[in-house]
Amino acid sequence: MKITRRGFARLAAALPLAGVARAAVVSEPDVVIVGAGAAGIGAAQTLIAGGRSVQLIEAASRIGGRCFTDTATFGVAFDRGAAWLKGGAANPLAGFARLHRFEIGASEARELTFARGAQAPLASNDGYERAIVTLSDAIANAAEQDDDIPASQAAPMLLDDEVRSWAATASAMIGPLDMGVDLNTMSVKDWFGLEEDDGNRLVRQGLGTLIARIGAGLPVAVNTPARRLVVSGRGVAVETDRGTILTKAVVLTPSLGVLTSGAITFDPVPDPAMFAAWSGMQMGLLTKIAMFFGAGAPVLRFAADSMLIPQADDERGHVFHVRPFGAPLAICLVGGSLAWELAGQRDRAVIEFAREKLRALLGASGDAGLRNAAVTDWGRNPLTKGAYSAALPGHWRARAALEAPLSERIFLAGEAQGGKAAQKVHGAFASGQRAARRILKLLRA
Ligand SMILES: Cc1cc2nc3c(=O)[nH]c(=O)nc-3n(C[C@H](O)[C@H](O)[C@H](O)COP(=O)(O)OP(=O)(O)OC[C@H]3O[C@@H](n4cnc5c(N)ncnc54)[C@H](O)[C@@H]3O)c2cc1C
Repeated sequence: MKITRRGFARLAAALPLAGVARAAVVSEPDVVIVGAGAAGIGAAQTLIAGGRSVQLIEAASRIGGRCFTDTATFGVAFDRGAAWLKGGAANPLAGFARLHRFEIGASEARELTFARGAQAPLASNDGYERAIVTLSDAIANAAEQDDDIPASQAAPMLLDDEVRSWAATASAMIGPLDMGVDLNTMSVKDWFGLEEDDGNRLVRQGLGTLIARIGAGLPVAVNTPARRLVVSGRGVAVETDRGTILTKAVVLTPSLGVLTSGAITFDPVPDPAMFAAWSGMQMGLLTKIAMFFGAGAPVLRFAADSMLIPQADDERGHVFHVRPFGAPLAICLVGGSLAWELAGQRDRAVIEFAREKLRALLGASGDAGLRNAAVTDWGRNPLTKGAYSAALPGHWRARAALEAPLSERIFLAGEAQGGKAAQKVHGAFASGQRAARRILKLLRA
């Protein structure tokens, strides 16, 4: 459907929107924001502060998107998506946390490395840390050359046996467990363009709870997927399962996995340059297998917020985040191709995978005391289709190209547009704010 001036007026007369969650719907909002994750919430706050009316529409039954604290499964906070406030003091979400009286962890997770076959942590992490520095340096050096090669070709100088023995673990940490992709599909320049992960802090009540708190009170219609965006000279008609909303501009925040799946269509179709940028990107995956233990379980002997790092045989490695904020949980993290492979299996098999890894790490009774377990499904979820974005080797410029508007009235926002903080919650939030400021300028004109 192409909206003509007359067609637009007719549609406008059809408002208010029949099926949209009534209490929250703004009639003919200045701006529609598709998706109520961190980016959508950031955009909404900025637009409202700028004096504009907004309507968020969210396909899921809750806000927060990839930030979701599950308290129902275990009776304690389990962040199924993002858990750490990253980027240290520069992260503006830490300010919101303080404002809303959330408790932020005092320190980063304590890393404990385990030599292959040993059931106790090493006295020092030197070998592992040297391997991380060696591989990071090699990737950074490669990134400063002309070609954007896969990180697997970065050829680190493995100076001695100790570094060599931790090289696979370092690869797992830098590739699958951080970027969400294996090194052979990881762009060295995309990795180099992202800020370092330091000053990572957990939130006691859960980062998902914090994002939901920041978004509380915004005009959100949940269970309202956008299906089609039709742009005319005067505005945009946003077609949803619950009616059509007419607006002056749109902030579009679903993940690149969702956008490239064709779940939302556009009239007119966007510039081919945008499709080219999308095809230069991929969705990485990080999966959490959370295990809840009874008192006295062997794995609970580690200090709160420990990261157990077993020496890996190849880059398809895993780690265990143990006792976040003291909760009786051990969360097995897997990423990249291994996570995609496990996403194709039944939860029971994936939980058995994690139990077996825990026994391999701590001995035959390593998984004793297990009471309950859960597996995250960001890969299978049609509203995310992965954890976060990564450029393909050779396509690092695609990320910058994503910053362009989809049309003069449709602005993309989300973690993929997060610049140096891409892949992160605060990057998504800031990109929503940026898109909102561009719309404020457009509407002033
Ligand atoms: C397992 C995991 C661990 C992570 N860990 C961290 C971490 O520790 N720290 C960190 O900073 N980041 C982390 N991240 C990344 C972080 O969660 C994301 O970068 C961020 O939450 C993305 O926010 P967003 O607003 O861009 O997207 P989203 O949160 O995905 O929001 C987009 C919204 O759009 C909705 N939507 C989709 N399709 C439609 C449609 N057709 N119509 C309407 N709505 C639609 C979705 O339901 C969703 O709510 C992690 C992610 C995962 C998956």
